[in-house]
Amino acid sequence: MDESNDNTLNDSEGLNEEPEGNEPEEANIYEYFEAEIASNKPNFSKTLLSLYELTKIDQELAEIDEEKGDLPFRIESLKERISVIEKHLDEDKAKLKNFEAEEKTLLKENKNLDDKTTKYDEQKYKAKSNKEYDEITKQIDAMIESIQKNEARIKELKGYQENLVKGILEMSRNFEELKNELKDDISHLNSLNKQFEEEEVELTEKRKVILDNLDENLKSLYERINGSMKGEATAIVRKGNCSGCYNSVPPQREIEIRMAEDVFTCQSCGRILIDETLIPSS
Ligand SMILES: [Zn+2]
Repeated sequence: MDESNDNTLNDSEGLNEEPEGNEPEEANIYEYFEAEIASNKPNFSKTLLSLYELTKIDQELAEIDEEKGDLPFRIESLKERISVIEKHLDEDKAKLKNFEAEEKTLLKENKNLDDKTTKYDEQKYKAKSNKEYDEITKQIDAMIESIQKNEARIKELKGYQENLVKGILEMSRNFEELKNELKDDISHLNSLNKQFEEEEVELTEKRKVILDNLDENLKSLYERINGSMKGEATAIVRKGNCSGCYNSVPPQREIEIRMAEDVFTCQSCGRILIDETLIPSS
């Protein structure tokens, strides 16, 4: 550092203490600082330009997403609904099967009890004593009671089965409708995918090349912003304003951004800021 620069620096400190210091000298000090900063600090203009290029690629990818609309989301939610219905259907079909098996068992049991009561009824009249007669009657009564209990349960089971069958029919209808809807959406999305496939592959490759050349912190910063604002992770500073949110950028920060001293984000919207003078005119 030569002497004249040293003097300028000292003068600047003097000026700050005495606000009435003369203006031309102040301008010189600014120039000095700008020159100093430019020579010593790493310049990020190349990095910022590649982030700008990356944003343009992501804008195109976002436009493709726009074309596909909510199809991918709809497909996912349809698949979820279908699998929920399928699970309910399976559960209800299994319940129905159990109820049918129980009913079959009870019907068989009642048939046996019925046959037995008929046989006992005949024996009742061949009883050799009152005691034997009473004993047989008691057994017949017990069997009739069992038959009645089984019949009540069978009635109950029939009610359950009726409801289940109704539910299963309705669910099956719904299931078929959703499956058709899903089939249509998938074929629509497939045709859109085919239409954009080449373009997407090309853009994704270009994107990867740029990202691979960025350091990890910057990469994750970019991806984080792009994740919430696809295709809008960078914004241009134009006339002191962020082009993403139109809020003003503090003057000192604006100078730092113009000099590409570092990668700065907008204090309002979080986008990475690039001064418009850094962008080559196309
Ligand atoms: Zn902003």
